[in-house]
Amino acid sequence: MRNAARWMRRGLVPFVVMLSLLFTLHCARDYVTGKRTFTLITEADEIALGREADPQILAEFGVYDDPRLVAYVDEIGQAIARVSHRPNLKYTFRVVDSPVVNAFALPGGWVYFTRGILAHFNSEAELAGVMGHEVGHIVARHGAEQLSRAQLAGLAIGIGAALSPEFRKFSKFAQVGIGLLFLKFSRDQESESDRLGVEYATRLGYNAHEMANFFKTIARLSEKSGGSIPTFLSTHPNPRDREARIHELTREWQQKIEFQPKNLRRIDYLRRIDGIVYGKDPRQGFVESGIFYHPQMRFQFPVPDRWQVKNTPASVQMSDPRQAAAIQLTLAKAATPEEAAQQFIANSKATVLEQRALRIHGLPAVRLHSRVSNRGDTLEVRSHFIRKGQTVFVFHGFTTPDQMLKYRPVFDHVARGFDRLRNMAALKKKPWRVQIRRLARPGTLQQVFTRYRMPRDRYEELAILNGLELNDRVKKGQWVKLLTRRSE
Ligand SMILES: [Zn+2]
Repeated sequence: MRNAARWMRRGLVPFVVMLSLLFTLHCARDYVTGKRTFTLITEADEIALGREADPQILAEFGVYDDPRLVAYVDEIGQAIARVSHRPNLKYTFRVVDSPVVNAFALPGGWVYFTRGILAHFNSEAELAGVMGHEVGHIVARHGAEQLSRAQLAGLAIGIGAALSPEFRKFSKFAQVGIGLLFLKFSRDQESESDRLGVEYATRLGYNAHEMANFFKTIARLSEKSGGSIPTFLSTHPNPRDREARIHELTREWQQKIEFQPKNLRRIDYLRRIDGIVYGKDPRQGFVESGIFYHPQMRFQFPVPDRWQVKNTPASVQMSDPRQAAAIQLTLAKAATPEEAAQQFIANSKATVLEQRALRIHGLPAVRLHSRVSNRGDTLEVRSHFIRKGQTVFVFHGFTTPDQMLKYRPVFDHVARGFDRLRNMAALKKKPWRVQIRRLARPGTLQQVFTRYRMPRDRYEELAILNGLELNDRVKKGQWVKLLTRRSE
């Protein structure tokens, strides 16, 4: 959750737009082979899709606030786009404020890198390789292909596609998720993008072997996290297999085009990310001892025991471990709690079971109990609309009618625990940042971390961040990434 203005800009998920896309066949060009192919989606449709989804992505993740870094990523992206098979498309490259290691593309020319992935690259060549891969998805129209296929099958690609089936029925109401983003590419599409990524990076003089090395980082990250692989690698090709294949493709391409390597130093890339925020940013909300604190927006509320919390710039979502109930906190575009309640009733065609005004920690509020139906599913919703300053906060507790008696006390406890920020220590919390250091003495990486007093439980994580092993020797004068809590 970031700030009120960003929340307000949040619109409805545009899957209706996607699904209403023409069902006629269009003849389009395969940009890679030059052959003509049939697809349901024209280039204009692709661009419209990307343009529609881009604000949703920004609402979901937020933009990372570092114009120089964004300009740098854009510069590399534009260079890749120029040597691609589809140089005439207008491309937009963005850095999103997420700690997750990921990069992804939308049809029509939109590419996103998280600050998490930028922190993990150890050279510009790694960045360029992944950039080539993402541009490859756009060039080869993979997103459009996926949509065509889904449309043919009559499938609704909608909100909540990333959630478990049991939870999906809630998500329809909760307006979470971005269907487009969770389009899964096939194994063949991933392989094709790897091949294009190697080609484009090589044409620009980047050593694509370094892109292969980045797959080693990905493999280590996913092994460490128990197999949760970032979206851009989420389909079957195992990162270790891809690593080997990319080395092979690199050898081929370097011969094919009279490779002229760029003169790049690791430090040139590291300087770009010196000071980048690393891991979760507590200023945008964190949970401590069962309380959710939002320092920037200055509020807090209790989190039910063992419930999972998902905090994004647009909302805070909580779900019961059994996924039988969910709570969502968002902001209303309304001046008063009463107005917000009326909007909710009108928009979701809710049947009101009870409505009353109350005060929560002195703040004016409305509690609404209603029933909402959608495509045969009926949910009961326990809502609290609470005004703090100029903003109306909305808690919706969702569950099925037969479970409401059980969950009602939980929903009420959370909403009635909402308050102004009381814990002032929360305001002092700072995020970790990457700090680059030139080593005055040689040693093993582990010795370096000890010397610089890095948190002991994070040595392995830091080794991955550096693309090295803990017992690797580092030389005097070599640059390493460390972590600091000082700003800048
Ligand atoms: Zn991919």
